[in-house]
Amino acid sequence: MKSPFHVMIIPTLGCPSKCHYCWSSDEGSPRMSIETVQAIAEWLKDYQSNQVTITFHGGEPLLAGAEFYRQTLPILSGELAHLTPTFALQSNLWLLTPELAQVLAEYRIPIGSSIDGPEEITDTQRGEGYFKKTMRGYEIARANGLEVRFICTFTNRSVREKEAIFNFFLERGFPLKLHPALPSLRSKDPKEWALEPEEYGELLVYLLDRYLENLGRIEVMNINDLCKCIFTRHGTVCTYVDCMGTTLAIGPDGSIYPCYRFVGMPEYVMGNVRDRPTAEDLARSEAWKLMHAFKDYVDRECAGCSHIKYCRGGCPYNAIAPTDGEVRGVDPHCVAYKRIFDEITTRLNDEMFGSADMEMGGFGFPPRKGAKPGIMAILRTMATR
Ligand code: SF4
Ligand code: SF4
Repeated sequence: MKSPFHVMIIPTLGCPSKCHYCWSSDEGSPRMSIETVQAIAEWLKDYQSNQVTITFHGGEPLLAGAEFYRQTLPILSGELAHLTPTFALQSNLWLLTPELAQVLAEYRIPIGSSIDGPEEITDTQRGEGYFKKTMRGYEIARANGLEVRFICTFTNRSVREKEAIFNFFLERGFPLKLHPALPSLRSKDPKEWALEPEEYGELLVYLLDRYLENLGRIEVMNINDLCKCIFTRHGTVCTYVDCMGTTLAIGPDGSIYPCYRFVGMPEYVMGNVRDRPTAEDLARSEAWKLMHAFKDYVDRECAGCSHIKYCRGGCPYNAIAPTDGEVRGVDPHCVAYKRIFDEITTRLNDEMFGSADMEMGGFGFPPRKGAKPGIMAILRTMATR
């Protein structure tokens, strides 16, 4: 079976926002030229033959401007027609204008944006005025028929407000996708905002319970993904698969990296699109070898873990970036992953083997009258959506 291929294009690492816990923006970052876009298309055309998803990421990708997308989207969709490209964009939406929205709408580009809950919490973490600017962009996106979903970053401070944050998403009818704040490698105090793995694990269990209480009224994307991983015994998002080779990122100057998280870190450059490297060429780079060293490490160190098949040691960036590229451990969020994987597995087993007040059975079985919704209910809801 062919694996989907994901390419992230980073038109710039610049960003007009100054979120306190940001680890990736860079004010001096250059902007990608149309010649580089052309070189990306020329390179990808022969690089691989699987269907490709292209995500514009940053920094803030809308800094590239309407004209960049007006030229880039036809180049990529035309030159890569045989790879049936689909597009996505991750943006804080501050710079979205009706003109830009129309360009994106022509290609039906779904947008991932970021708000951290109610205005006060969002602005405390992301800077004064962030919430209003993002919601203004959201309204423009919706008025032009664009689909927008929000990622909510939980920090060690906002996690204390988890109830207010969950209720905010519930009341607004927004699906909730959470992201734990990572230690910022550019900060003097990298852990100032970072969510500790234990807290992250407890947060996931909390969200599982709140999700079950409100099933049908909200979607918690992370819980959906985790349940799907366990049920299919296979990772369904990049954190829980061996991402090397199926995901690549291209920086503003055409440099190729294993993922957007490494963009701007020269030691992780694997090649440049202008040289049209083959997969074999990229595999000779130190970054590729390092990612594979991580995979081998996971095979050894996680061998005794019952979740290895659908966890795969978590995210390699989280594991190797803080140790200056040395493979010394798995993703530090392992504690959180184990906590939630154990919780879902135990509950699913209870349901399958019929504990007193839980619904039991599989797909095709109607839920028992009066039974509390459980993991099977989440899976059933996903299957019927
Ligand atoms: S390095 Fe981490 S964030 Fe990047 S593709 Fe791999 S798992 Fe995903
Ligand atoms: S939960 Fe931890 S030990 Fe288990 S596979 Fe994931 S990273 Fe490895």
